[in-house]
Amino acid sequence: MNKALMAFHIWSIVSKRDSLWVEWVQSYRLKGKSFWVCKTPANCCSSWRNIIHMRPLIRKHVWSELGDGASTSAWFDFWCDLGPLGDFLTPRTITDADFRLDNSVANIYSHGYWNWPMAWRDTYPVLIQLDEVQLNPTKHDKLLWKDDSDLDEFSSSRVWNSVRYKEPDVNWCNIVWFSQCIPRHAFMMWLVVKGKLLTQDKILNWDLSRRKNMNMMCCLLCFENFDSHPHLFFECKYSTQVWFRARQRVAMMPISPKWRDIVDWLLVRARSKSALIYVAKLIVVASTYFIWQERNARLFKNQLRPPEQLSEIIINTVRYKLMGAKLKNTASVRKLLQEWEIHGVVVDDDGG
Ligand SMILES: [Zn+2]
Repeated sequence: MNKALMAFHIWSIVSKRDSLWVEWVQSYRLKGKSFWVCKTPANCCSSWRNIIHMRPLIRKHVWSELGDGASTSAWFDFWCDLGPLGDFLTPRTITDADFRLDNSVANIYSHGYWNWPMAWRDTYPVLIQLDEVQLNPTKHDKLLWKDDSDLDEFSSSRVWNSVRYKEPDVNWCNIVWFSQCIPRHAFMMWLVVKGKLLTQDKILNWDLSRRKNMNMMCCLLCFENFDSHPHLFFECKYSTQVWFRARQRVAMMPISPKWRDIVDWLLVRARSKSALIYVAKLIVVASTYFIWQERNARLFKNQLRPPEQLSEIIINTVRYKLMGAKLKNTASVRKLLQEWEIHGVVVDDDGG
C-alpha cells in the first residue's frame, strides 16, 4: 500500500478538493459526519477500508489553521494543541451540553468566548488554555500539514518524510486507561503523558515580552525555578519527597523521580495482569493527580499541605481503590492485600 497516495486521498477528502470522487465520498460515505470518526460499514470495499486504516497515522498531521472557524469541526479536527477535543469529550458529553456533533469551531464560539458550560472548565481544566484562541472573521480556515512543530502546505514529499520511518506511537494507553483505574486520575494522567497541562514554562513561551513581568513566577511547591511537566513529575524537591514515600508501597523502590524513568518502567510492564503492577500504576497515576491538585490548591486557594500529608492521601486513595477492586484469589494477591492491611475482602476465584 502506498502511504503517500493514501494520504493524498485523505487530504482530498478533508480539504474537500474539487472532484467527483470527493463529492461522492462526502455524500455516500460520510453523510455529514467527520471523516476522522466515521464508522466503516461491514460491507465496504477494500480501498475504502485501506483509507480508513491510514487515519490514525495521518490524523495528527492534518492541522486546521483557524480563520473564521466555519469549516473546522469543533470536536474532531486538530485546531489546538490539546488535539481533537473529541479525544476527551465523549459524544454524550457534547450532546448533553446541547451541542451537535457536526458543530464547527465558529458554532461554539461567540463574542470572544467559548459557549461551553462552566462545568466543563472544572471537569476539563485544560480547556482554560483555549482562552488564548481567537477567530478572525475575515479569513477562511486553512488546512496545513503538521510535522512536530512545522506547519506547511500539503505535498506528497512532506507526507513521505513524515510517515516513512516513523515508529508507531509507544503504547502508553495501557498505563493511562487500564481496567479498574480511577477515571478522574486517568484523565489527568492522559494530559500529563501528552504534556498538555498549562505549566509555567508554557505561559512564559506564549509571549516572551511578558517574561519581564513574570520574574516573580516560581514553582509553588518548592519556590525555586518555574514549574514544567518534568519539574512537577517528580523532579521538584517537594514532588520528589512525595514520590519517595509513595514508591515505597510498590515495587518501584529503585526508580528515580524522573518522569521518563517511571514511564519506561511502566511501559515495559504495561500489559502485565499482575496485581503488583496494577497497584504500581495506581500509585504513579494518583501521585500525578494529587501533585497537580496540590499545585492548583496553592495557586488558587492558598492551601498548603506538607509532602508527608500528600503521600498519605495518595496511599489511602490507592488503598480504598484496592478494597473495592476485583482481584484474582491467588497467594500473591492475598499477600499484597495483607501488606496493604486490607482484610476480609472477597476476591474472585476466576476474575481478572
Ligand atoms: Zn518545584
